[in-house]
Amino acid sequence: MNDSNKDSIQEYDSLKDVIEFQNNMFNPGYYVGTGKVPPTVSAPGNAAPLAVSCFIASAFFMALGLFLFFSDVIVVSSGLIESPLANKIIVLIIMSVISLFFLYFGFAYLKKAKRYYREKKAIENEPADETVKDKIWQRTCPKCGISHDIDYPKCPNCKFNYLDQKF
Ligand SMILES: [Zn+2]
Repeated sequence: MNDSNKDSIQEYDSLKDVIEFQNNMFNPGYYVGTGKVPPTVSAPGNAAPLAVSCFIASAFFMALGLFLFFSDVIVVSSGLIESPLANKIIVLIIMSVISLFFLYFGFAYLKKAKRYYREKKAIENEPADETVKDKIWQRTCPKCGISHDIDYPKCPNCKFNYLDQKF
């Protein structure tokens, strides 16, 4: 199977996913506990904006955790623990876990975005390959250096005759 076939199959699969999502987005339980991933999460196209939002969310929760830890705000995570410092540490840990969670998804989406841009670039470069192929059937005149089609017996510019060429 060549690469362009693989690309079109991938494209078809993501389209199918979107249709599946649109048919089932108001169907509770379709995506829960079935192992199916909705395209809003799997990001079949460009995942770069999702990666950026994940990094922003990660930074936000980390900053929030640090702010609550160092500020004078009294944080109550549960009624069971009396010590304000212990409560602050618990909140900081929770915020760090949420932050790391977003960071993990941020890197996962970033990897996806990189692959997306690589595939997009590969598709965009395909027409350029044809012009390179055309240039194979050109020859450069040894006398004046101009490129012309290979089937000319004489150079169209300086009339250099290839049949007169001595080897
Ligand atoms: Zn010439």
